[in-house]
Amino acid sequence: MDYQLIRSKRKTLSLQINRNAQLIVRAPHRLPIQQIEVFIQNKSNWIKQKTQALQNQIIKKPDYLTGEKFLYLGNRYPLIRQTTLNNRLVFDGKVFKLSHNSDAASEFYRWYKSAFKKIALPRLDYYSDLYQLKYNKIHLKKQKTLWGSCSSTNNINLNYLLTGAPMSAIDYVIVHELSHIKHKNHSQDFWNLVQSILPDYKTARKWLKDNGHQLHNL
Ligand SMILES: [Zn+2]
Repeated sequence: MDYQLIRSKRKTLSLQINRNAQLIVRAPHRLPIQQIEVFIQNKSNWIKQKTQALQNQIIKKPDYLTGEKFLYLGNRYPLIRQTTLNNRLVFDGKVFKLSHNSDAASEFYRWYKSAFKKIALPRLDYYSDLYQLKYNKIHLKKQKTLWGSCSSTNNINLNYLLTGAPMSAIDYVIVHELSHIKHKNHSQDFWNLVQSILPDYKTARKWLKDNGHQLHNL
């Protein structure tokens, strides 16, 4: 279990879950680390409940109000609700703008999908050509659990909610699925191929693991 340890002059141990659902442990200066770990172990149920509750809050659905922030290529940009002539979501490089009477969620989906086409499809073809990994068809979908998939007939699906992720994470998913054209499994050969194309793929994979749930938050 990950935690932040803060030692001080205090006499007792205490646990706290902060607003980001991180565990903070406060302990006396000289208390051995083993005792601290045992204490955390004994409280693991409480910790799980508490962090789960907080995480649920963190990933609650947006209200699409002015000031709320939305991910685009790994950065967060604020939304402004305003009166506009059309109902489309617009992004000017700094803020998202949306008319008061638009269906916000569907506008965001539409915008993410069209942005994904412009951002990701050229990358797909770039890697496909460069590494001679020829796919059959490409489909874009929004999916709850998968970032992408590659069928036995080399049809590739990509989750367009990845528009919220950094370019490195988008590249990673693309390269991952293209690598399945050669290796229909997650064998060492498969990972070697991914790594030969993207030496730093683990950082991108970790970003998705840590932040991926937020990409579904529309
Ligand atoms: Zn895979």
